Amino acid sequence: MFARLRKHASIRHVVQILFAIAVAYIGITFVLFVDQVLNNSLPSLSRPAGVEAFLPISALVGLKAWIATGVFDPIHPAGLMIFLAAIAVSLLFKRAFCSWICPIGTLSEGLAMIGRMIFGRNFRVPKVLDYFLRSLKYIILFFFVMVIFFGMSGAEATAFLQTPYNMVSDVKMLKFVQHIGTFGMTVIGLLVMLSIIYENFWCRYLCPYGGLLGLFSILSPFKVTRNLTTCIGCGKCTKSCPNHIQVEQADRVWSPECTGCLNCIQQCPVKETLEFKAAKGKRSLSPKILACCLLVMWAVWIIIAKSTGHWETHMTMEMYRGLIPMVDQIGQ
Ligand code: SF4
Ligand code: SF4
Repeated sequence: MFARLRKHASIRHVVQILFAIAVAYIGITFVLFVDQVLNNSLPSLSRPAGVEAFLPISALVGLKAWIATGVFDPIHPAGLMIFLAAIAVSLLFKRAFCSWICPIGTLSEGLAMIGRMIFGRNFRVPKVLDYFLRSLKYIILFFFVMVIFFGMSGAEATAFLQTPYNMVSDVKMLKFVQHIGTFGMTVIGLLVMLSIIYENFWCRYLCPYGGLLGLFSILSPFKVTRNLTTCIGCGKCTKSCPNHIQVEQADRVWSPECTGCLNCIQQCPVKETLEFKAAKGKRSLSPKILACCLLVMWAVWIIIAKSTGHWETHMTMEMYRGLIPMVDQIGQ
């Protein structure tokens, strides 16, 4: 089994593991931070701003408020910066955020791997149902965009950011996970089972974040590109695609489902037949170069955010001490 795992390990998996470790570190630090506030102990740990990556709705409201008023979200600035970084990655390298960075994508991939170990393969949703289910993430996205971008004024969006509910939405999320009820467990259990049976179930059908990034990714200059003259039509690329894209029939892969995982390129037996490149005739990006681009881009983005004051929240420790103990009453 380990030999099989080693064979399939790639630079992408290394990057995924690095980000998963960073997320685990942020999660543990955040739990300790909340505990220290609740126990009224001296602050030895500061709140990790990266936890705001898990507040995409707040980031969307922050974006609306920023566009409408010019004021950058002072409550969860890191959340908005990470949201913008994910969009920037998609504008350049397809939905590489999903297959290289997002911890939910990594988890989803791990579950699909368990499915292959149990059943020898992942199953496919029937085509007609697949078309319908794929539209769900866009319907959910449409709903949020309509409510936030067209249903709220700039002043309302700004006011929402300053509500106690938004201020402690990260703590509310933590409490939800720590005291998850039967309903929550059932939904998560169902999603886990479906992700084991059907590869990428959550990302392919339900994640509005992925849907949004997919729409931006259509504009990405880098796309998987097939050399029609050297292609032998073996179909290995299509078989290896976790998003069921017919790579062997494409000239350039424009699909918003392409997550830039480069599996297809690594599986192609003919050298320089499939490449991830900006346009025909131009230099292609190897997995190693793409990994470097993503890591450098992410690091530079965070450095810029920190040095320009767009990373740490403007909330004070006193505000947290006042709000966190009453988090269960907020928003009820
Ligand atoms: S296998 Fe190729 S076409 Fe499929 S998602 Fe990955 S990069 Fe895109
Ligand atoms: S794996 Fe390569 S050679 Fe085979 S069909 Fe795909 S692009 Fe053509």
